[in-house]
Amino acid sequence: MQSVVLLDTPPMACVVEEGVFDAWSWCASDSLEWHRPAKLADERGIESANPPGLVFVLRDAAAHAFLPRELARLHAFGYELAEDDEALAPWAIDDATDLLYERRARPRDVFWLAAPALDTLVWGLHDWAHFHNHGPFDRPAMTELQCDLIALAWLRRNAPLIGLDDAALARVARELATLSRTRFADECIPPPVSDLDALFSGPYPSDRLGR
Ligand SMILES: [Zn+2]
Repeated sequence: MQSVVLLDTPPMACVVEEGVFDAWSWCASDSLEWHRPAKLADERGIESANPPGLVFVLRDAAAHAFLPRELARLHAFGYELAEDDEALAPWAIDDATDLLYERRARPRDVFWLAAPALDTLVWGLHDWAHFHNHGPFDRPAMTELQCDLIALAWLRRNAPLIGLDDAALARVARELATLSRTRFADECIPPPVSDLDALFSGPYPSDRLGR
């Protein structure tokens, strides 16, 4: 049995260097409507790609037909979806980031989030950060670092509502730091701070990184 929760997702300061984003906070984020299960599954760790079960369901597919869409019921189960309800195509997160920005479509007016597990919720928040802060994505590790830091800050902010304890938050921080380290290594560039674990386990940075 799912219930609906409004997650508080306020705008955050950009903490990566200039130029990683070309339109920071073009739309001020505010809240994310999350349709949650009674118990959030947490067996799966956070991995490098949007996981199955993470679905952005369209409130009004006709009004947002510019987005790549698929039938919602193919990807989200148990949400009392109508036969013809549509969702953002799971492969189209990057396209949506560009298209929402081009059309100046407020993400909150376009989607609600279906996320049955902790990794899907973290990725949903990560994508929510992208949707409100446009970047050319030509520096993926740095772009993803920024969005992961915001996702974690939003997760902490809503932890009591979600039902997450300190151990669960610490685990997410560790897994995001590991993921980030891999991305910088793959790009053969150094991260902006030497200790990514400390960065993720600490509070949201109050100043730009690497100063
Ligand atoms: Zn991303």
